[in-house]
Amino acid sequence: MSSKPDASRPRAADTKKVHIADTQMTRQNWYKHVNWLNVTFIIGIPLAGCIQAFWVPLQLKTAIWAVIYYFFTGLGITAGYHRLWAHCSYSATLPLRIWLALVGGGAVEGSIRWWARDHRAHHRYTDTDKDPYSVRKGLLYSHLGWMVMKQNPKRIGRTDITDLNEDPVVVWQHRNYIKVVLTMGLAVPMLVSGLGWGDWYGGFVYAGILRIFFVQQATFCVNSLAHWLGDQPFDDRNSPRDHIITALVTLGEGYHNFHHEFPSDYRNAIEWHQYDPTKWTIWTCKQLGLAYDLKQFRSNEIEKGRVQQLQKKIDQKRAKLDWGTPLDQLPVMEWDDYVEQTKNGRGLISIAGVVHDVTDFIKDHPGGKAMIKSGLGKDATAMFNGGVYYHSNGAHNLLSTMRVGVIRGGGEVEIWKRAQKENSEYVRDETGQRIIRAGQQVTKMPEPIPTADAA
Ligand SMILES: [Zn+2]
Ligand SMILES: [Zn+2]
Repeated sequence: MSSKPDASRPRAADTKKVHIADTQMTRQNWYKHVNWLNVTFIIGIPLAGCIQAFWVPLQLKTAIWAVIYYFFTGLGITAGYHRLWAHCSYSATLPLRIWLALVGGGAVEGSIRWWARDHRAHHRYTDTDKDPYSVRKGLLYSHLGWMVMKQNPKRIGRTDITDLNEDPVVVWQHRNYIKVVLTMGLAVPMLVSGLGWGDWYGGFVYAGILRIFFVQQATFCVNSLAHWLGDQPFDDRNSPRDHIITALVTLGEGYHNFHHEFPSDYRNAIEWHQYDPTKWTIWTCKQLGLAYDLKQFRSNEIEKGRVQQLQKKIDQKRAKLDWGTPLDQLPVMEWDDYVEQTKNGRGLISIAGVVHDVTDFIKDHPGGKAMIKSGLGKDATAMFNGGVYYHSNGAHNLLSTMRVGVIRGGGEVEIWKRAQKENSEYVRDETGQRIIRAGQQVTKMPEPIPTADAA
């Protein structure tokens, strides 16, 4: 929590000294690896609150106040620290900035400046060593291990926070952070319940300490749960995920796959029915004239991401299916050889110049054995494409898996033209695999052939 312009910049004096985080943890030095200040803030104090709760009775008014203050301070983090200062997803008037800096401070998660710097590094270097709370180091690490254990600040990715250094509210809060924490974290919740209904101690324990504990744990889930649980509708190359449970826990920060794709969007949930009270709060502030310039990505851009991810999933599924040997990998057969082989009892059938071995399929042919046998050794293109029966898309797909050769050009059909078409005109996916769409199979004629003459 240095107040220097860039804490991650190595200083001349300590470049040679090895940071404790970069040394092996042993029985002798483990306590040096622990960040005791943070342990006090996020484990020690909550623990003290839990113990005191045993003999401090919880009054209804204090309970309601604790929940209300939970939302105030939680929103200070989500709407303030996160969406306003870390991502600049909207602009806020001075009164709103002061309010968010105060209630956000009451959540006891570090100053805006420190929090937003780390969070920008998290977005820029997601899942890498430079990500201060990379989930790749374990779920518990991303939840609070990164704060409990000392981190070498030089390892955290560098980010630009000049805009934060220019915001007087941010600078003031950073300089007076301890005072803000004591006032907003403990004094205010205690004063309200003390002056309000005489419950000083209850206000301290429930609206103060235990409320801090719940707000901390809830917002830490953005770094852990949101990178671990749920779907990835926009991009699956990194860990961020969308899940309703995370959204419920984190005041709407649970649509984290969307958020990492579109971080400067003031929304996390884009559907009206999804739970995002942070978004609703920002929107309400706009109606009240306290917030403006709410940033939103065009739905065209959002849908592009969604389609690309769907396409990737489809590609993966398609790659697992048998689409038949590509035409250019099939052996070339002479027409006479083809006829000869069928005469010798092999169940070969030529459709659109592609020879298929249907020997094992004859008995299963839905149109009957006689019908399929009548096409063996002939050009059955027309028969197959409406001359006798207009075969289904499924039939063309199945047929492709039985390919064994192609008839040499100049035969009954222009097979090489088709092979070329299959090679050049077919759409390919990112790995270069052919995409065969319904109705585009090589055996499929554009129009049904009405007569059986060709057979
Ligand atoms: Zn994240
Ligand atoms: Zn973020």
